Amino acid sequence: MDPADSRAVAAFQKFLQTRTDHPAPDYAAAVAFLVEYAHELGMPEPRVVDGLVADKPMFQVVVVGTENEAPALLLNSHMDVVTADADAWDHPPFDGVIADGRIYARGTQDMKCVTIQQMEALSRLLARGWTPARSVVLTVVPDEEIGGVDGMAALLSFTVEEAAARAAGEAPGPVTIAGLPIGFALDEGLANPTPGHYTVFNGERAPFFVDVTATGATGHGSRFIEDTAMEKLIGFANKALAFRAEQAAKLHASGSCEGKKLGDVITVNLTILRAGKLHNVIPSEARAGLDIRVPPTVGYDELRALLDDWTATDGLSYTFAYEPPLNSLTETSSSPWYAAFERAVHAAHPDAVCQLEVFPAATDSRYLRALGVPAIGFSPLAGEPILLHDHNESIAVSTFISGIAVYEALLTELTAVPLPAPM
Ligand SMILES: [Zn+2]
Repeated sequence: MDPADSRAVAAFQKFLQTRTDHPAPDYAAAVAFLVEYAHELGMPEPRVVDGLVADKPMFQVVVVGTENEAPALLLNSHMDVVTADADAWDHPPFDGVIADGRIYARGTQDMKCVTIQQMEALSRLLARGWTPARSVVLTVVPDEEIGGVDGMAALLSFTVEEAAARAAGEAPGPVTIAGLPIGFALDEGLANPTPGHYTVFNGERAPFFVDVTATGATGHGSRFIEDTAMEKLIGFANKALAFRAEQAAKLHASGSCEGKKLGDVITVNLTILRAGKLHNVIPSEARAGLDIRVPPTVGYDELRALLDDWTATDGLSYTFAYEPPLNSLTETSSSPWYAAFERAVHAAHPDAVCQLEVFPAATDSRYLRALGVPAIGFSPLAGEPILLHDHNESIAVSTFISGIAVYEALLTELTAVPLPAPM
């Protein structure tokens, strides 16, 4: 193996061994590793942002371009990972064992591979004397797996009010990170099991957590009490489940030319049911909790109309336990950024296919998109099974190494995207 690639693999293993798994991620250790690694790679002096949230430092590298007034390219990744049940793994989940050409560890796909690939690509270009036109901001943030409030949202000082003001065109200047205006962002994606196929995300589904309460008549369990809370809640649940079946049918419809993906449909899951204490007492209240995920093509009003319909019975009501801020889609059809993105992928792999989709779950990109920064979710994991958050999460060593070249091409093309001509 090429010495630079061996170094990259060794660094990847070391990063995987850094325990950033929830619920007690060691962010200080991760940032210390990244600083040392940046020095080893001869990168510009990294910055550690540790004043935003206590014990949640962030890592940044800035490469200033020749056109340093032009909005910069952001390369973002998150350093935290989810927990792992070691008993269910074939290899210890925090060792980074290489077996049969694959690296096994929590975070190999989600998403420590990307952090190392981006740093390798950037340092290799710089070592060849590359000077980008646009500046590059590389960030590695904490807490993505638990909502990003103390991570990307804190880095952006995100507020719903600012997002709404920007959406209304009342923009208080560009979105900045490390003092630089950000023009376009690359953040995490998912593996694609088909060889040569990359899944690329330009939006994601918004999670709504809903509480439904039914109230009704109470009485002795021996009688036919009318209008009970339980009957009403079950009526509601049946409507929600019928809708769920319709959406599942849309997703699974075979031979359909629509070709729906999980990111294109609304998922509804009844996750909480609570009522009753004693067998012989009709409860006067019953509650349900739901997890509903909505694609960016569905307006929040549409979702409210659905819930209004399902709860249109006296004694039924709902509230949002969590309601996400805006959910926006990154425009790709006429975007010079997206054209450059596809050009870069094809420069690295001429036969590659980019499959544009809506991410089924939530990532840090939502904060960027909500502030109007175009963001693409992309991890260069073509021909890899989707193993994020799964037992035996792993990637092929060859996939890891080939991804470095993809980021070199992306950095080259995306930092050369010209400014729009003056009107
Ligand atoms: Zn992730």
